[in-house]
Parts: sequence; structure tokens; C-alpha cells
Amino acid sequence: MRRPMLAGNWKMFKDAAQVRSFAEDFIPAVKGLDDRDILICPPCLFVQTLAQLFAGTRIQVGAQHIHWEDEGAFTGEISAPMVLSTGATHTLIGHSERRQYFAESDADVKRRIQAAQRHGLTPVVCIGETLEEREAGQTLAVLERQLREGLPAMGPEDSRELILAYEPVWAIGTGKTATPEIAQEAHAFIRKTLAELFTDTLAREMRILYGGSVKPDNIDTLMEKPDIDGALVGGASLQVASFARIIQFKG
Ligand code: PEP
Repeated sequence: MRRPMLAGNWKMFKDAAQVRSFAEDFIPAVKGLDDRDILICPPCLFVQTLAQLFAGTRIQVGAQHIHWEDEGAFTGEISAPMVLSTGATHTLIGHSERRQYFAESDADVKRRIQAAQRHGLTPVVCIGETLEEREAGQTLAVLERQLREGLPAMGPEDSRELILAYEPVWAIGTGKTATPEIAQEAHAFIRKTLAELFTDTLAREMRILYGGSVKPDNIDTLMEKPDIDGALVGGASLQVASFARIIQFKG
């Protein structure tokens, strides 16, 4: 059984006071939901603050990005051991905004995953096609390339240590959600490709989240699909009420 995960990506939103007040209201709002994993990835400046505010709860904290080196002269960057030292447990890798605005390639994604794995930081690896690629009928080829070139070699034991997020770029922040059927088709294809690239066990056990304009009013139907194991939520994770409702999905 794959355990559902509901993850929030705060992107470049919230200041110190807003982070604190969110945490105060959020902890009671999701109390007792012990059969699912909850993760929030704030701006890196607040990873430690949030990890401390959530200490003693089951809410996990992640970075939005890491460098592949452990340390060095890389101004502005943060590394896997630094993130871990704050009490955080996860990191996003390969988000489409990183690929689009910071020119991250599949090879970069692979190096970052390897750095996370070296230190026991769980990567949440984002893949997905652009609108142009979808309209050109290239969706499955793009997903296959991102998996083949972006993921390092893995054995069945790695299935719990890496989480994938299918995020069609045309659905991120646009209000256009992939229908549950479109998302399920992509998730099933990703699972089949994982079986071809790695092992059946890894493909069966690895969690694949859906991301792209997930809201309280579409989470339930998305979560009914057999290959959708959770959601990576941007905009709707910024408000306690909407993110808590997403976490309380009925699927
Ligand atoms: C995201 O940032 O990963 C995302 C899916 O954003 P949104 O939910 O706002 O589309």
C-alpha cells in the first residue's frame, strides 16, 4: 500500500511573521490525520524555522532546491547536509520553474538527486510536459526522457526514498487542472516506465504525486485514481483552510 502524501510548495511566498502564524493555525487543523504524510517546502530561509515550529508533530519540512555539492564557493546555494541539519527531511528537485527560469537540465536533476540520496534527504522529483509538448503529442516521450535521463540507477529499496511528482507545466499556477483521467494516464505511463527502467517492485511501491492547480474542489476526484498517490500543491497550500481541506481528501 502506498501511503498518501500531500505536499505544499510555497515557492517565493510568505515572510517570517506569516510563516509563524500559518504554523500556529495549521498544526491543530491537521491534527490526527495520521494515515497520510504532510510536507511543506517553504523558501529556504524558513526551512529551519518551520522545522522547529513543527517539531513534535508529524508534519515534515523540505527545501525547494539543493545544490549537488555538499559545500563550496556557490553563492546563493544550499546543500543537502545543510538542509538536513535544520531538521528538514525532504527536498523538491527539478520543479518546472527551476527548469524554466534557472535552466536546470535532466543531468542537473540527476546530480541533485544523488546528493540528496547520499545524505538521506528524500527527493521529491518533479517531471512534466509543457503545453507545446502536449499539443505536439510529445507528452509521453518527454516524461520518458525526464525519467531516463534524470533518475540515477535505483534498486527496489530506493522506492521509498524517492517520490515523483507529475506536474504538467500548463497546469501549474494557471487554474487549469489536468482532468483526473489525463493525470491517471500520465501516472500509469510513469509507473510502467519505472518498471522498465528499474524493477516491478520499485514501480509498484514508488509514490507519484500529481501537481498543477490542485484545489479543495478537485482533490477528491484526483485521489480516486489508482496511480495518484497524493498531491504537490502550490497556490492552495498558502492558506491553512484550503491546504487542510486538500489534506483531508476523500478518495
Ligand atoms: C507547484 O508549484 O508545484 C504547483 C503545482 O503550483 P499550483 O498548485 O499553484 O499550480
